[in-house]
Amino acid sequence: MAASMLQKFQGTLVGAIVGDCIGSVFEGLSWASVVGTEKVVKLVEKIEDDHKNSEEGTAKKQKKDFYEFTDDSAMARSVAKSLIQNNGLDVKDMAKRFTREYLRESDRGYGGSVTTVFHALADSNYEDVFQPAKDQFEGQGSYGNGGSMRICPAGLFAEKKNLDFNQLRDLTEKITLLTHSHVQAIHGAILQSYAVQLALRTTTLDIDSFLQELISKMQVLEQEALQEKQKRKAEMAEKEEQVEAAEKSESKSEEEEKEPDYPYCAKLAKIRDFVRREELPDPNEIRDELGVYIAALDSVPAAIYCFLRASKPIEELKDRNAFERTIMYAISLGGDTDTVATMAGSIAGAHYGLDLIPSSWQLCCEGRLDAMKDAEQLFNLT
Ligand SMILES: [Mg+2]
Repeated sequence: MAASMLQKFQGTLVGAIVGDCIGSVFEGLSWASVVGTEKVVKLVEKIEDDHKNSEEGTAKKQKKDFYEFTDDSAMARSVAKSLIQNNGLDVKDMAKRFTREYLRESDRGYGGSVTTVFHALADSNYEDVFQPAKDQFEGQGSYGNGGSMRICPAGLFAEKKNLDFNQLRDLTEKITLLTHSHVQAIHGAILQSYAVQLALRTTTLDIDSFLQELISKMQVLEQEALQEKQKRKAEMAEKEEQVEAAEKSESKSEEEEKEPDYPYCAKLAKIRDFVRREELPDPNEIRDELGVYIAALDSVPAAIYCFLRASKPIEELKDRNAFERTIMYAISLGGDTDTVATMAGSIAGAHYGLDLIPSSWQLCCEGRLDAMKDAEQLFNLT
């Protein structure tokens, strides 16, 4: 039976929590190499055995809340609660929630540079909530995945309020700009929030059309960004009349040319190649081509890929449902395991709904009840 919209809302936020909590077990242990499905299967079987033992009363100790959530969920909760409380976006309120949450529990694994933003926000008394993030990395802004990892509640809010793509884009951009101002961080967050909204709306998943829809939206965004970049370049060239300056900008533009003009579209096209293959690709190929790292461009595509690929059977993950496969496959690739799994988990949860998330998995994760409550409140917004 198809999941109801309420179950899909619950699946999104609980799926995100589960991905974060279980994924964090391997975070940082696996930057250099893959985790592999064997280790993930072992961990999941332990979770399930502990649950069974506690149900039967044979466990030494109840293993509830055993796995703690990290910065991903700490920030996603703030996004959800701020949208609920204000029945819309209040950037100042959201910036305050991010910062206070960080100051309350600073040991959730926040990245070093984002903590600078939180301190600057508090020190400036939230006067201009976008300025501290703009000042990052000598004015370039961060291109990390911190915007995308927390954005799934925006996809729910957009669906509830029947927002069109441009409204979702605007909402996501503002939430991201509070900490990440680089265009790739913003585009990654938009791709992620739209993937969540699209998954909520999808009853029968057709991988090709799901991808094509994402590509068509990213094409517009990336074309705009490219035009903006060319305009800035032309303005700079006008200013730099000296030969020396011209030489300098020439060598810089050669460097820039190495980057594809449509980086997210290029990665989405790679996803299509990977999912069309009959055999599961070598995990190292996924890591090289899509990335499972801290940049948004090197993690959001992997999360989408894991959701899509896991909708089909995976030999090493037999007897696992599609939600379980999504999380387990995402973690098995290594890298930024909690963030890739939380993003993949929210998309999978949005599509399949809460029923596919095993209760043993839910019960071992801190923050699951809060995620349920937030999902229900977002669903009940009018
Ligand atoms: Mg984290």
